[in-house]
Amino acid sequence: MNYVSTTRDYTHHLGSGHGPGPGTLIERVSPASGRLVARFAEGTADDAKAAIVRARAAFDNGSWPRMSGLERAAVLRRWAELIEADKERLARIEVDEVGKPIRMARGDLDAVVDLFQYAAALAIQAHGEAHSNLGGGKTAWVYREPVGVVGMIIPWNFPAVIFAQKVPYALAAGCTVVVKPSEFTSGSALELARLGAEAGVPDGVLSVVTGYGNPVGEAIVTSLDVDFVSFTGSTAVGRRIVANSAATLKRVSVELGGKSANIVLEDADLEDAVDGSMFSVFFNQGECCCAGTRLLIQDSIADRFIERLLERTKTLKVGDVHADDSDVGAMISEAHFTRVCDYLEKGKTQGARVLTGGGTDRAAGGFFVEPTVFDNVEPSMAIFREEIFGPVLVVTRFKDIEKAVALANDSEYGLAATLWTKNFDSAHLIAPRLRAGTVWINTSIDTGPQIPFGGYKSSGFGREMGQAGFEEFTNVKSVVARLGKRTHFYPQRG
Ligand code: NAD
Repeated sequence: MNYVSTTRDYTHHLGSGHGPGPGTLIERVSPASGRLVARFAEGTADDAKAAIVRARAAFDNGSWPRMSGLERAAVLRRWAELIEADKERLARIEVDEVGKPIRMARGDLDAVVDLFQYAAALAIQAHGEAHSNLGGGKTAWVYREPVGVVGMIIPWNFPAVIFAQKVPYALAAGCTVVVKPSEFTSGSALELARLGAEAGVPDGVLSVVTGYGNPVGEAIVTSLDVDFVSFTGSTAVGRRIVANSAATLKRVSVELGGKSANIVLEDADLEDAVDGSMFSVFFNQGECCCAGTRLLIQDSIADRFIERLLERTKTLKVGDVHADDSDVGAMISEAHFTRVCDYLEKGKTQGARVLTGGGTDRAAGGFFVEPTVFDNVEPSMAIFREEIFGPVLVVTRFKDIEKAVALANDSEYGLAATLWTKNFDSAHLIAPRLRAGTVWINTSIDTGPQIPFGGYKSSGFGREMGQAGFEEFTNVKSVVARLGKRTHFYPQRG
């Protein structure tokens, strides 16, 4: 299919409509084609403050937090239907701005609809606890209240999906929201917010302010009127968010980087493990926080496994991201492309061996990196330790399970791990020993809106999705009462 990208112009989304004139613009050139695909408003701290004031008023005095769960769910379901009807157009926006293949973007939009549907269900079923066994007429209720105004800061690799992992969950809880999407990929957040207004999200409940981390993100994190910040992005910026939140002692959740292990034991189904290992690292051109970038392979099957992995990796189609059969997209920007290329060089100079790839492709005007596999990778090497965020797999061999677990945990990160084995005992004995927020067994990057996601160690804290993700957007309030006449604390002397 010959899809032709056009240029879209956006302003901030404040409340039910788009915001004031755009002022200074951020121009987004597709990293896959070099074409200008979008212009976003370069927001200021004042733009962020204006959105926060609206969100504060909508939370303190508006209808949204006070509606029944059923009413909020109806809006979220309508919103999901509008997204469903607009999926292909939204997917094309993700392709243009992120440089990811259309097949992946379509999968992203399917996931977005599921996330909204599940969040709608949470809005209905949310409930607290009642304690009737405290004795002495004492009774207590534990409420789950919306946490308040939530600031959300979103990265560029899954702009629509991460919006959907946060926004509908917070809205289901009754919060009001200000979103700052990535300056590279703000289109889908603005489009989704517009559909939200059409579905019935009241004025001021959801705003999207575009622009750079500093000043827009910083204004959100340091605002006294924001109760909670939900951040997804790099570990470096995550540390800054946590430090900046200290002055106002607001709650934060930080979903950060990763360097996940992908362990293949000798009793794995070889074809499944090869396919899943490729998906784990080349999905979204490796720009995926939970990518299984460290392949840990048992010695006894290593040569056979790698031979098959290379055969299949060489068939992957790189580039032409709007084509239905494209497998691997472009790096998000020239700066990031250069960073990934630097890692390719570091791998070579530090003694790892390139088995396939190792080069780049600029022919179509995009920042494409060849799917690359490095062998002979030692834990001391930068390519084993640092998040590359590109289609680069590093291979390290092990003899026994003890060594596999030690290698997997030898990382500052702890976002996810994958394990390939047909031995039930091995799977269930190893999974709890892996220091990671998610462990996949005989599958990879496989999740659903019901399943919480988040990190250990430098991959951050807090959870998104599932009941746990929903509860992040709530505060617990305890109400304790005495029924009937109370026994007094003090003797009646007067
Ligand atoms: P980034 O940290 O550079 O930027 C993320 C967001 O933070 C952007 O919107 C950016 O504008 C904003 N920002 C930058 N500086 C800020 C500041 N001082 N205050 C407030 N906001 C600020 O990350 P990125 O390059 O957009 O995304 C890639 C990173 O995100 C990778 O490290 C990846 O692993 C991580 N990631 C993690 C998850 C997860 O769920 N754990 C998911 C996706 C991506």
